[in-house]
Parts: sequence; C-alpha cells; structure tokens
Amino acid sequence: MLTGPTLASRRSVRTTVVEVGPVRFGDGGFVLIGGPCAIESATQIDTIAAAVSAAGGAMLRGGAYKPRTSPYDFQGLGADALPLINEAAQRSGLPAVVEVLAEAQVALMAAYVDMLQIGARNMQNVPLLRAAARSGMPILVKRGAAATLDEILFAAEYILLEGNERVILCERGIRGFDPQTRNVCDLGGAIRLKELTHLPVILDPSHASGRRSMIEPLTLAAAAAGLDGAIVETHPEPDASRSDAAQAIDLPAFARLAARVRAVRAALDEGQPALEARIGAARGAGVDRAELIGDRPL
Ligand code: PEP
Ligand code: MN
Repeated sequence: MLTGPTLASRRSVRTTVVEVGPVRFGDGGFVLIGGPCAIESATQIDTIAAAVSAAGGAMLRGGAYKPRTSPYDFQGLGADALPLINEAAQRSGLPAVVEVLAEAQVALMAAYVDMLQIGARNMQNVPLLRAAARSGMPILVKRGAAATLDEILFAAEYILLEGNERVILCERGIRGFDPQTRNVCDLGGAIRLKELTHLPVILDPSHASGRRSMIEPLTLAAAAAGLDGAIVETHPEPDASRSDAAQAIDLPAFARLAARVRAVRAALDEGQPALEARIGAARGAGVDRAELIGDRPL
C-alpha cells in the first residue's frame, strides 16, 4: 500500500484538469476518444476522424508503433503513420493521442501528436516514463495487465516528479482467468483510483473486454460512475481492421455511443459534483482517512 502522501495522491475533492488543446479532462465532463487500434492509411484515419468529430467525440486515437503480442502480427506503419494522423487531426480539429513505445521515439512523436500514450506493456518502463515526462506533453498512462492501483500511481509519480503534471490514467482491463473476455474490466478499481488520486481517470472498454458488443455498456457504466472519459477503438470496417478487429466498433456505433453517453450524463448528474460529494462525505466521516492521504502536507 501507499505509505504516505505522494504527488499523485488526492489532496482535496477537486480533480486536476489536464488540458489537451481545447479538450479538458477532469472538469466533470466525459471525454470520448475514438479511433483505430492502428493507423492503416490516410483514407482510413481521415474517415474515422471526420466521423468521430461529427459524433461529438473530443479526441482521435491511432497506433503507429504497435506493441503486438506476436512478432508475426501487423506491427503498425511506424513513423509513416505519424503524418497521417497529424493531418487527420488537423482537418477534423481533434487532438491526437498515439502510443510511444521507446525513448528514442519521444522527440519525433512530440512533433506530430498532442498526447503520448504509455501502453500497458510499458507502464513500469521507468526510462520511458521519464523521457515522455520531460517532453512536457500530456501523457495517458495505461494500467499494466497485472498492475495494482498503487503501481499505476507510482508510474504516474515518475512523471509528476519530472515536473510534468499533465497525466491521465487509464483502466484497460487486468488479466483474469476466463477467456470469455480478453481482460477483466476493473471498473471498481477505476472508481477506487479516482478516490486515491487527483488525476483524471478514463476507461478503455475495447482492451478491457476484447468484444465489440461490450463497448457500449462498459462506456455507459464508466460515464455513470463519474470517470473522466473513455478511449474506444473505432473503424469504418471493424472486421477488416489489421489489429484488434474483434473489439472495434463501426462509425454509426460510435455516434450512437456518443449520444447515449450524453444521455447518461444528463440523466444522472454524475461527474465532478457527485464525486466531490462522495469523497467529501468519506473524508468528513473519517472513513479511509489514512488512505485518502491528502489532508497531510507533502
Ligand atoms: C492500444 O491502445 O492499442 C494498446 C495496445 O493498449 P494497451 O497498452 O492497453 O494494451
Ligand atoms: Mn488495440
């Protein structure tokens, strides 16, 4: 367990707002990010960007360097993909997030994208965390497949210690025993994470489930629970995706999802005020005071 206050610890009921261009994570809204697992062509990423934007999505995702489990699978277009997503982002007005796999890629990626993603496989790659932090860019840190909440908080801590406070955490499922889902979507863990840290927390329902049919219910659950957003694999022809086809939704499904997220948020009045009330009540009652360590100075 965390034994004392850290830079990532929640100190008050407020969530830190992380800005990525015009997009604000942590201000009580729900930031929907759409895009393919892998950038495959200019037409593919352009088509998706236009659809995500039209649906009310706030950001564009796309992989350039893909950390595939098998070296025989499609590894992404690499550096060639960066200008493609950069142009699609500019045309659509959506900031772009792309995974960085290695320290040597940080400088190049910083020229083309708006937010760096540290993937599950690299969550504890300390030199990469530090190099990404020193770019000064916003960083999306995904939870490792078998990482505890303390471990992802300490990954964030490496970035914060470099003086970069632009950190967003992402629950993307943890390793379970049941092959019915690719991973176990730890929604409870994500809710707990928001109690422990002032940083915004989002959900990746695609990698958390591995199943197209589960994207909408998981995203709506995240929206209802007061998380700060979701990152969803989206493709014009999901079955033709060169990676992660089974967990991509098509463009009409993304538009429906965005509309239903808005409906859930409007109906439930969740988000920042509700979160603040819940955390404030816990602190006031002395519940979990040792773990909500924010009232002690750093
Ligand atoms: C991805 O976002 O495409 C990805 C590889 O995610 P993760 O690191 O969560 O497996
Ligand atoms: Mn993927």
